Amino acid sequence: MADEFSAGRIVYHRSYFGGELQQVAPAQVVRHDDAGVLLWLAYRSPSWLAVLPDRGHPRDVPPDEWPAGGWPLVPVPLPLPQSTLILVPPDAGYAVWWRWRAGGPIRPDRFAGWYVNLERHALWDDGEHAGVDSLDQELDGLVDPDRRWHWKDEDSFAAKTGQPRYWSAAEATAIRAAGESARALVEAGACPFDGSWRDFVPDPSWPRPARPVPEGWRRPPTLTGR
Ligand SMILES: [Mg+2]
Repeated sequence: MADEFSAGRIVYHRSYFGGELQQVAPAQVVRHDDAGVLLWLAYRSPSWLAVLPDRGHPRDVPPDEWPAGGWPLVPVPLPLPQSTLILVPPDAGYAVWWRWRAGGPIRPDRFAGWYVNLERHALWDDGEHAGVDSLDQELDGLVDPDRRWHWKDEDSFAAKTGQPRYWSAAEATAIRAAGESARALVEAGACPFDGSWRDFVPDPSWPRPARPVPEGWRRPPTLTGR
């Protein structure tokens, strides 16, 4: 395992889609152990986001219309509806997000379930800057608080399978299998879906992180390919 990130450190969560950088968000390390690195992404943290036509998402733009050299990124508040805890397990094809209802405080009675983001990921650390790179694989699992599983974006995932920017049919099978392995944990109520962190409340003394600096995040991706 890579050296552990120390609790409280601000690292950069870089999200890639179709091989291109799509978002950079500051994330506070809650803990890092054998289960993975647990990150806190605070609502509207100063972040960077790819600029697309009509403020769309890369999934909706044919890759042959993508700009050479990648999307330009602009400073924005983190475009998530609520603060989020993200567990990045070291050897899994997914990350697990804890979700809370939008528009209010983080409290156990406002827990809204989990989001299983199918992805490849890797950690990086040059001493001054560090982060997690996530290569999104489009298919996701949405999990209700009572552990009912729902696939998300199955049609878009299928439509992208076999395209050069995305994944082969064999890779798609492996991606879905990673989702099924998470689903098995969900339905068994096994860790990390056993109630862990459902009562999490962020420490009110935590500072709002600064916007990630370009000299920190403008570096080659840790992972290549899809
Ligand atoms: Mg996803």
